[in-house]
Amino acid sequence: MTNRRTHRELIGCYDCGGNVSFSAVTCPHCGSPEPAGPYLQNPKERRLHGIEEKNDQTLIGMTVLCSGIGLFYGAVMVGTLGAFGYGLLGAVIGVPAGFIINVSRRLFG
Ligand SMILES: [Zn+2]
Repeated sequence: MTNRRTHRELIGCYDCGGNVSFSAVTCPHCGSPEPAGPYLQNPKERRLHGIEEKNDQTLIGMTVLCSGIGLFYGAVMVGTLGAFGYGLLGAVIGVPAGFIINVSRRLFG
């Protein structure tokens, strides 16, 4: 067996701190299944991810809210058929409205 240099990167095991090859599936010292540790997001990624989640909630919330208002308005003003039509209209308005809120949050938030 020769003492060839390898270019494999060694990291400290997440669980025991021992030297483990970055590509190792398990730690040879403690047998940890995740020697590299759980995937860590940097703060910027984490923040963007948070915004993304909030955006989804805004989009769904605005769609539900607008179609709800449309449904109510249509039911009061026109009746059952109107409720359906205005509800659909509300959903059509709600999606871009939520989108605009999301974009402005990204720009000014
Ligand atoms: Zn270990």
